[in-house]
Amino acid sequence: MNPSSTYAKFGDLVQIVSSTNKMYFFRLTPGMQLQTHRGVIQHDDLVDISWGSQIYTHIGSPHYLLQPSLADLINEIKRNTQIIYPKEVGFILVTMNIGPGTQVVEAGSGSGALTTALAWAVGEEGRVSSYEMRADMQNLAEKNLKRVGLSDRVDFKLRDISEGFDERNVDALFLDVPTPHHYMEQVRATLKPGGYFGSIVPTTNQVSDLLMALHRYDFAFVDVCEILLRYYKAVPTRLRPTDRMVAHTGYLVFARPMLPAEPPNKNDSGTSSEPETAFEEDD
Ligand code: SAM
Repeated sequence: MNPSSTYAKFGDLVQIVSSTNKMYFFRLTPGMQLQTHRGVIQHDDLVDISWGSQIYTHIGSPHYLLQPSLADLINEIKRNTQIIYPKEVGFILVTMNIGPGTQVVEAGSGSGALTTALAWAVGEEGRVSSYEMRADMQNLAEKNLKRVGLSDRVDFKLRDISEGFDERNVDALFLDVPTPHHYMEQVRATLKPGGYFGSIVPTTNQVSDLLMALHRYDFAFVDVCEILLRYYKAVPTRLRPTDRMVAHTGYLVFARPMLPAEPPNKNDSGTSSEPETAFEEDD
């Protein structure tokens, strides 16, 4: 990802946007050129140009020079799987307290969209272990991470997670696999007590399966939610929602693994020694 800077330099990841919003992402490399639908741009001509500048192809077509955001990179990622989109990514990061220095495990790597966000968030001090059982998917995820310069923060592991994770006492663990409820034993062995568990599933019956498994494995502070994002037409005199909206991506489930303990013996005071459950049923 790009460091904070004002001018484009060789080695920077750049985003070129045409007047019709067609986007190009690439690393600025001496002697290379970008072929757009409307002419050619030489990489050399972009060096020392301020981010946000309007630039022109060799036939005079206007484009903008920008630093790509994490959301841009995720939206544009080369994919062979369903990916986790920026609207969920942001909420996952803040809910699971993933930031500089965090040790995170995830499965499956898929196309590496969430891996990109995790690697970006944990910084140089943190570590991401990303498990995937299909070699073709792992290769794609690894390639996508290399492309944005974040692969050195990630250990890619080719494995079916039913065989377990190598790590112990990690801060956060996220599952984006079809049957997360099958892997609670493996999750508990790897995630530190009190750490953050998260998962995304597309259907409510998968959520129910996962909730039952979380209960069996002593997770508490369980939350289920979905994130709906509505864009507006950014026209001051006709401000209203855009006509189309993505109605469904997935359900997010979050929980914390706990270490239940017997309560101190209160028989002398006449109080019940029944342990209180962390799971309350509303209705
Ligand atoms: N989170 C990814 C992203 O944002 O690009 C997408 C993950 S994709 C929906 C699900 C991936 O999980 C697939 O690549 C699949 O091969 C992998 N997978 C499914 N079951 C698995 C298992 N038991 N162990 C490891 N990987 C698994």
